[in-house]
Amino acid sequence: MKIEIVKNILDANDQVAVLNREFFDSLKVFTINIMSSPGAGKTSLILETVSRLESPSAVIEGDVASSIDSEKMAEFGIPVVQINTGGNCHLDAPMIREAIKKLSLNGVRYLFIENVGNLICPASFDLGEHIRIAIASVPEGDDKPYKYPGLFSKVEAVILNKIDLMPYVNFDLERFKKGIIAINRNTKIFLLSCKTKEGIEVWVDWLKSENPYR
Ligand code: MG
Ligand code: ZN
Repeated sequence: MKIEIVKNILDANDQVAVLNREFFDSLKVFTINIMSSPGAGKTSLILETVSRLESPSAVIEGDVASSIDSEKMAEFGIPVVQINTGGNCHLDAPMIREAIKKLSLNGVRYLFIENVGNLICPASFDLGEHIRIAIASVPEGDDKPYKYPGLFSKVEAVILNKIDLMPYVNFDLERFKKGIIAINRNTKIFLLSCKTKEGIEVWVDWLKSENPYR
């Protein structure tokens, strides 16, 4: 019985996700769903990325509470809408449908959706995005792909952030990569640091190459 209810929720979500994707395509807005645990660096990565793109970007911020991240975006002049889920630990397609009503997407070529910091259920909800990105960070440890295969198996790219901290913690990079490749052979893996900016250009170049509307 419980399984049936979850299935119905996901079906309803997927129908709205299809509408969202049609809407993004009609406006030529390439949409990126960014998922990670809290503190891995979603907001920092979006800021570093947007500042290197030649085309206009917009952001949807998903948080359980507060507008801290969207204020940061607004400070840099990036059009942003904040979704407060009020306790919900993921974004869903109807939330995105509401948020885009408050965002002017004319001329925007990249829409970043910063999902709620959580490595479990965000992966189950199609938002209507074009690609999914997972961010892990060095201090979290090299075992994340093994513990959260659901999320790491569904993304087009994995970013390992905070590589500047590698000398200070026990992090086995080969083990981390092996864990990803075992569940998702085709995903790209980018190593970078939003602090030292190392590796960011490579990631941004790839993202641009993925955008059919750039
Ligand atoms: Mg954030
Ligand atoms: Zn959730």
